[in-house]
Amino acid sequence: MLFIANAEGWPGVPTTVRMLREGADSLTALVAGIGEVEAEVRVRSVGRGGWPNMLGEMECDAAVMDGTTREVGAVGAVPHTLHVARLAHEVMKRLPHVMLTGEGARRFASEIGLPVEDVLLPDSRRVWWERLERELSPEERGRFPDIPLAPLLRAITDPERVRDTTVYLSADPARGIHAATSTSGWAWKYPGRLGDSPIPGAGYYADSRHGATACTHTGEMTMRCSTARSIVLALKLGHPLDDAVAMAVEDLAGLKDGFLGGVVIHAVDARGDHRVVNFRCPGEIRYWLWDDTMAEPELRAAQTA
Ligand code: ASP
Repeated sequence: MLFIANAEGWPGVPTTVRMLREGADSLTALVAGIGEVEAEVRVRSVGRGGWPNMLGEMECDAAVMDGTTREVGAVGAVPHTLHVARLAHEVMKRLPHVMLTGEGARRFASEIGLPVEDVLLPDSRRVWWERLERELSPEERGRFPDIPLAPLLRAITDPERVRDTTVYLSADPARGIHAATSTSGWAWKYPGRLGDSPIPGAGYYADSRHGATACTHTGEMTMRCSTARSIVLALKLGHPLDDAVAMAVEDLAGLKDGFLGGVVIHAVDARGDHRVVNFRCPGEIRYWLWDDTMAEPELRAAQTA
């Protein structure tokens, strides 16, 4: 059994590792751990600690993928909901759909008993407004939010404030290979913006026969390159994990226009190997690794692409 999570996933790593050790269903263990990340105010890119969109509203994205059945549950731009990974898991288990967004996702959350919550912290609301206010004329401040938001986007949207979505991957010869993600997305994003975290093939993909991938940082790039699916497809075609990741990095590096930034790729294969590779993100990127030969999960440094 192998488990990896990005560094920001720290609050839930002990829970997921304990449940995997005890033989729990892998996706249930991933979702339980991510639930603790979503509730942790010190994680500033997911759930309770996350930053809002340009209107000061939290809109969270999440997904799960069962690599054995290739079933997916995903939710996007969900308002007033903390535990969106659990919501995504329930979409997968209970609905004939793959993805719900916005008010429909919120409606389903109520149907399964997830409370309507104000996920935004008061202090985050203060920081949100102070940042926005600096860009608005007195007249715009008076009319807000009934003003065009697009002209403000480049100045205010702050992808750098979000350092990491939470991504969790597990791989086990018997229990399969699975992926789960959760995020509040870019800080000050345009309302309704979806990142890659709910998009299968972009922000995550899992196939128990070959491997799984999950990405953090600039979803606008992984959505254009289908990064997660590309890697698993390369594994299927017989490429070693290093080459599979290198091919995806080459695609990202080939993007010359549009919004460009860094991406971190987390990948596992069916042979029990893993790679975490930093493509152009500043600073050191780390991740959690646990396998069943290790007493405790360890924080490791990612490779640089
Ligand atoms: N990939 C996420 C998104 O695009 C954000 C992140 O991981 O930092 O929403």
